[in-house]
Amino acid sequence: MDIFWIIMAAVGLVLVVAAVTIVVGRRRALPPAPPAAELLAEPSTEVSEPVVESVPEASAEPAVVPLESPEAPASRLSRLRRRLSASNNPFARGLLGLLAADRLDAEAWEDLEATLITSDLGVGPTDELITALRRETAIDGVGDPAKARDVLRNELLKLIGTDSDRSLRVTGADGKPGVVLVVGVNGTGKTTTIGKLSRVLVADGHTVLLAAADTFRAAAADQLQTWGSRVGVRVIRGPEGGDPASVAHDAVAAGIAEGVDVVVVDTAGRLHTKTGLMDELGKIKRVIDRLAPVTEVLLVIDATTGQNGLAQARVFAEVVDVTGIVLSKLDGSAKGGIVVPVQRELGVPVKLIGLGEGADDLAPFDAEGFVDALLGES
Ligand code: GDP
Repeated sequence: MDIFWIIMAAVGLVLVVAAVTIVVGRRRALPPAPPAAELLAEPSTEVSEPVVESVPEASAEPAVVPLESPEAPASRLSRLRRRLSASNNPFARGLLGLLAADRLDAEAWEDLEATLITSDLGVGPTDELITALRRETAIDGVGDPAKARDVLRNELLKLIGTDSDRSLRVTGADGKPGVVLVVGVNGTGKTTTIGKLSRVLVADGHTVLLAAADTFRAAAADQLQTWGSRVGVRVIRGPEGGDPASVAHDAVAAGIAEGVDVVVVDTAGRLHTKTGLMDELGKIKRVIDRLAPVTEVLLVIDATTGQNGLAQARVFAEVVDVTGIVLSKLDGSAKGGIVVPVQRELGVPVKLIGLGEGADDLAPFDAEGFVDALLGES
């Protein structure tokens, strides 16, 4: 009997130890108990949300950045004329060299001719200018520098043209937005120009929407977004490598729905093949025209690339009807003469000029302001 109770007691002890071990083991496997404060709080419906999501959400809180007020277009060229003046511009320096000469001997004429050719004025316009200058100075002499300057000014104005319509066509018909299609080779300053152009339009009181239809470079869309957000302009973009025409379509449709004044469409500037370029730009233009007619096609040309840039521009002009030229990087360029052949060969006026990397360094082109800035006149 005693042995029976001893065995029963031993079995009971083993069972108790086993039970205690299991309970302690389980408690260790459980997550630590929440602090008392949490236990008292109302049960949250978001407890199952992963923590990682709440972190970016909290840090993505949009910072309130004040919008910039872009400079009014009218005052820009006068502010930027310093960048075209002789101290900064080799083209202007060459022209003023002529005015500074005591007498115009054969060597002086040759120097001037060389300067004009180097400035990419082109052979034809250079001949015309020299012939006209020689004729005028033979009649009046160059004893009077002011007279010589007048002659040069008039001849340059004749070459550049003072009666072209250089206004931007940004007004749509039937209550629809104006649509500006911007084309040009990558690297010419196209994205920068579109960013600056949106500021010109905003400064003129227009509401603007940008279309990042260069879907081949995500960086281009990011760049546009940065420009747009500074002046409160929205950018419509698509997936990288997506259909550019579909982005253009969505942007113009949004522009119509939102009653925006102007939609500016960026395009890829890949000069792969002429047919490829024609298909791409042709499709974009057709898709837009079905919604709201394209009112302006701007071709961006990098002034520093001279004749080479002109050759590339010709290809674009053959595949799409260009209505205006933006000549970028004219600040400090020795190739300012390119204004003349660009207009002659493409039959389209220069409407805007880029004179620096600053946000408001894009100015409406006007022949008189340009020539006066080159010749250092007030
Ligand atoms: P994209 O590839 O044609 O879109 O060219 P970007 O807009 O990226 O410009 C290429 C480079 O040219 C950038 O470093 C711009 O800051 C610069 N750039 C654009 N326009 C001008 C200009 O008018 N003057 C100067 N000096 N640089 C410019």
